[in-house]
Amino acid sequence: MSGRQVIRNARHWKTGEPFELAVEGGRIVAAGAPGAAGAGASEVDAAGAVVSAGLVDLHVHLREPGGEGRETIETGTRAAAAGGFTAVACMPNTQPVIDDKAWVSWILQRAVELGHCRVHPIAAVTVGQKGAALAELIALAEAGAVAFSDDGHPVMSAEMMRRALEYAKPTGLPIVCHEEDLTLRGQGHMNEGPVAARLGVRGIPAAAEVVMVRRDIELAELTGGHVHLAHLSAAGSFDALRDAKRRGLPVTGETCPHYWTLTDEAVGEYDTHAKMNPPLRAARDRAAVIEAIREGVVDCFVTDHAPHGFEDKRQPFDQAPFGIVGLETALALTLTFLVKPGHLTLARALELWTEAPRRVFGLPEVALAAGSPADFTLLDPGLEWTVDASRFRTKGRNTPFDQWKLTGKVLATWCGGEITHMEESWMEAPAR
Ligand SMILES: [Zn+2]
Repeated sequence: MSGRQVIRNARHWKTGEPFELAVEGGRIVAAGAPGAAGAGASEVDAAGAVVSAGLVDLHVHLREPGGEGRETIETGTRAAAAGGFTAVACMPNTQPVIDDKAWVSWILQRAVELGHCRVHPIAAVTVGQKGAALAELIALAEAGAVAFSDDGHPVMSAEMMRRALEYAKPTGLPIVCHEEDLTLRGQGHMNEGPVAARLGVRGIPAAAEVVMVRRDIELAELTGGHVHLAHLSAAGSFDALRDAKRRGLPVTGETCPHYWTLTDEAVGEYDTHAKMNPPLRAARDRAAVIEAIREGVVDCFVTDHAPHGFEDKRQPFDQAPFGIVGLETALALTLTFLVKPGHLTLARALELWTEAPRRVFGLPEVALAAGSPADFTLLDPGLEWTVDASRFRTKGRNTPFDQWKLTGKVLATWCGGEITHMEESWMEAPAR
């Protein structure tokens, strides 16, 4: 986009007050009350839409390199833009695993070429995510990794996790912990409880997550290293995180929309679109997720966007892979199930998708103010719409939310001053 672009008649995401901004050269050059933006070479009438800092998702699986049938950096970042995201952090459980600085550089470069969304690579903790030898954490950090994780797998050896935290500490980057004791998980495929018993599916006890959460909190205390607890799902994990914060330990935690929206009842009659890891839990866990969010115990939201092929999810329940896509429903699930029932204000909900994740990973601040990168999202928090997975930008169709009626929609996304997404119906409205 050349020349000064002005977005008028919006409302500020924190104050709700009338707000406008001007963009030029990839940055916000003026912002404030009506009149502040001045004249533009081109103008967008945002007609009452809320303008927020761009959303950030610290936990996505872009599948490239090696899994291009399921997702690519191109399709994943298009999906991110459609979901209102201007930055994502991608997990290293690709083929090959991102345990090498050349691949970190490659991902960064590929994302810049495409330009749909900023991508921050997370590098593996151990070589090949095999848990046997530490990856070169300092070199990976220097190449641009924003965190380390063996996500997809736990680091089963406590001694290895201790060393990883010690080696990562001088980089200041967190270890993102996929918390799952594999001996307790065994051959489980869904949450252990009455629903699994009725279906005759082997269960995964909540304790498989909680014991590892407790272990890594102790290792954060032992080492002083930053433990970031991935995709928390179980009531006991939130108790542990609350306890760690009381003790002043360097521990943060994230959760995903499906854990506050669904329980294991969603598995219904073996619906593989309700199969993810960690699994959907019991009603009391869902209540604990919401309570921990309300209290501020949860540091940020993530999607754990995990695209899979259509045929992969058509397999019998115990053979289908774990995971669902999430980028294009995340904001609406937040507004529908946390803001609408009054658990969070709109401003706080958006904070958990914007400023909060930036703080957790130490990403540069983005503000709706002159000088800041022009990374922002326009949304209509009251718009009702029906999810249509066949129209997703992601290659994945594996969502339990297809055909759900949700409230709140992303209208447009700007990243680095470029429009990376604009909702067709909104763009074609008579006012524009
Ligand atoms: Zn994981």
